[in-house]
Amino acid sequence: MKIINGRQIAKHIKSDIKTKIKNFKDITGKTPGLATILVGSNVASKIYIQSKIKACQEVGIQSFHNNISTQSSQDAIIRLINDLNSNTLINGILLQLPLPDKTFTQNCINAINPVKDVDGLHPVNYGKLSLLKSWNDIIKENVLIPCTPLGIMHLLQYSNIQLSGKTVLIIGRSNLVGKPLAILMLSQNATVITAHSKTYNLDKLTKIADVIIVAVGIPNFLNKNYNIKDNTVIIDVGINRTVDGLCGDVDFNYIQNKNVRITPVPGGVGPMTITMLLSNTLKAFINQNKINL
Ligand code: NAP
Repeated sequence: MKIINGRQIAKHIKSDIKTKIKNFKDITGKTPGLATILVGSNVASKIYIQSKIKACQEVGIQSFHNNISTQSSQDAIIRLINDLNSNTLINGILLQLPLPDKTFTQNCINAINPVKDVDGLHPVNYGKLSLLKSWNDIIKENVLIPCTPLGIMHLLQYSNIQLSGKTVLIIGRSNLVGKPLAILMLSQNATVITAHSKTYNLDKLTKIADVIIVAVGIPNFLNKNYNIKDNTVIIDVGINRTVDGLCGDVDFNYIQNKNVRITPVPGGVGPMTITMLLSNTLKAFINQNKINL
């Protein structure tokens, strides 16, 4: 087993982002700004927000944090989003999910100005992503893409893992991870299989995959019940908090003697997700200031 070190790759990308931000500041006198919104006081969400704010500081993005009460109505959240939409110091808005009342989620996301939608979850950005055919077009158009799938694509690219013609099995079809990842994989000419809780015979699919992405949210989900061929690349997206600490969706004891490459948890996809938030904030800043690269 060989480890794909997401932390190290994220560090390279962050250093590049930091240089670009400094150069833009020298030319325009402006720096990108990111507003984060936390509704309530969910402990895991607080930790995520703190890591995002810290990452912003590291690269020179100004962050503006807004913590509002758990009882906030949908109207109150949307009012705050509207204020942030019209604030010219703010180029990106991140609404930390899940919201205490999940029924508000899509209406609140829809209220974010699509040019500031650094999570890439607004229907305009999701639609753009779905309509563009090639990876080059996606990059050229500076589309705001959900951070975790985008981070996975960069992780694979930095690790020199070619996707064209390969069979990629994505386990999980959420709007946040599996679905946009399938589109991104297609844009790099992979043959994509998306599995979910109703998929029959998953073990037959793991056997033929060149790349397996596990985004299920169940510890040890990918285990000895699933055959994996030599040289498979495994991306473990899961973040599960257990009594023994953080773990992913892959059973490391099963994988460790296999001839595969894998991202660890922690230190794999997580740091890439945060880095892509920085990258999307920079993209939003560039798009809003019409800076030519
Ligand atoms: P989600 O919305 O709960 O989606 C889970 C997916 O797994 C669903 O599509 C579900 O299928 C599928 N699934 C559940 N049981 C299954 C089974 N027995 N066989 C096959 N598929 C099954 O979760 P998510 O937001 O995508 O997140 C997934 C995991 O990634 C979580 O642990 C989350 O914490 C983690 N995550 C990590 C990062 C990061 O930065 N590292 C970012 C986002 C999420 P159905 O659609 O049929 O229900």
